[in-house]
Amino acid sequence: MNTTEPSSPGERLRDARVRAYPFPGTAWLALSSDPDNTLIEDWKELDQVIWKELGLPFGDTLFVRSFNLNLPQQVDLHRYPEILNSHPHDGIHTWGDYVWSGPKSFERVDAIEARETLARHGFRPRVWVDHSLFMGNMLHNHRYGTMPTVSDASGHVYPNPLYTLDIVKHVGVRYLWDGTITPILGQDRPLSTWQRYRQRAADIPTALSNYAKHIIGNTLGVGTAFREQLPDNAQYRVRRFADGNTFYTFQRHGTWLDADIDGLGRLLNPERTDQLIKTGGTCILYSHLGKRPVDRMHETEHIPPATRSALRHLQERWKAGELHLSSVSHLLDYLVLRDNLSVDEQAGVIRFHADGIAFTTVDATELAGHSFSFRRMRIPAPAWKAFGTNGVLAHRIEDHGTSGFTVHFADR
Ligand SMILES: [Zn+2]
Repeated sequence: MNTTEPSSPGERLRDARVRAYPFPGTAWLALSSDPDNTLIEDWKELDQVIWKELGLPFGDTLFVRSFNLNLPQQVDLHRYPEILNSHPHDGIHTWGDYVWSGPKSFERVDAIEARETLARHGFRPRVWVDHSLFMGNMLHNHRYGTMPTVSDASGHVYPNPLYTLDIVKHVGVRYLWDGTITPILGQDRPLSTWQRYRQRAADIPTALSNYAKHIIGNTLGVGTAFREQLPDNAQYRVRRFADGNTFYTFQRHGTWLDADIDGLGRLLNPERTDQLIKTGGTCILYSHLGKRPVDRMHETEHIPPATRSALRHLQERWKAGELHLSSVSHLLDYLVLRDNLSVDEQAGVIRFHADGIAFTTVDATELAGHSFSFRRMRIPAPAWKAFGTNGVLAHRIEDHGTSGFTVHFADR
């Protein structure tokens, strides 16, 4: 398509003196739940268990408005405005559900109306996730949302009424789901080519075969298409689109089959959570919290026991400080800020720089609620200063002795 190849800052930019994640956590998990199929009673149970009882600091995603005739009761902001502030939200699942919507088709004017709805509710989403077969998607199944014009084979050019990427940027979005699901648990850590093939294949013979094709393709300069199917393990990448706008894209982890509330219990079972902590890395977990298998639709409880106990285990590991949990945008903001900071070891100064895509300034507002840990250096921990794009920053230093120190920025 008319987009340049994405690049992966997460795998090469981080200063070696900043730890991957704030001490002592070795991993970071965010839940990326699409609101498909959610009924209001199930939404209330999820809100109660995940955000109120367990107190997990996840963000949520919503449909601005649903026109899906197959799911007439699906929760959206239009009919249930109270959902927005009941727990944190940072994402929109496109401009609404325009799939299986009968005579109601989507056009740019609907995005303008959604923009006004978002403004009326004071909601500035930072994350966009494509939905199913929606014709206005940016990267998943279709890319019509990114194209200001469309043309035919005879060279005629037409304005594209599905183009809305400029409005997506205008409402505050900086991160787009890249449309892929990775089977690799733990992004934001370098993997060798062999490790990447091994983790993607069902068995060792398949992995060996694919790896051999890769090596042969590289050596002989053939099989380019095959090699391109293997993305790197970065959590986020820079992507410039045909309309001139640049965003970050991010990949999600999971499987298409495990993307419901029962599958969440399998993806987050204690062994896998402990594995993520052990190997380290980030995980933006793909799910539909409000969806359950069809054979369980008659049950009163939406969240099955295995998912409840998986979430309890996750909460224990989080409370023990072994991994971080947050919204998708907080995690991605952290990675961008981390990968754009510099360390002046002689002066004892940490400088935060604007990346120009997610941040045009980095000050107390942008750093609110973030922490960064550093290896031990010559200048003692309490003496370190931090500068943003507008000068010196108020911060709190936590000294970990030989393990280094952490710079904390207060919540807003
Ligand atoms: Zn969806």
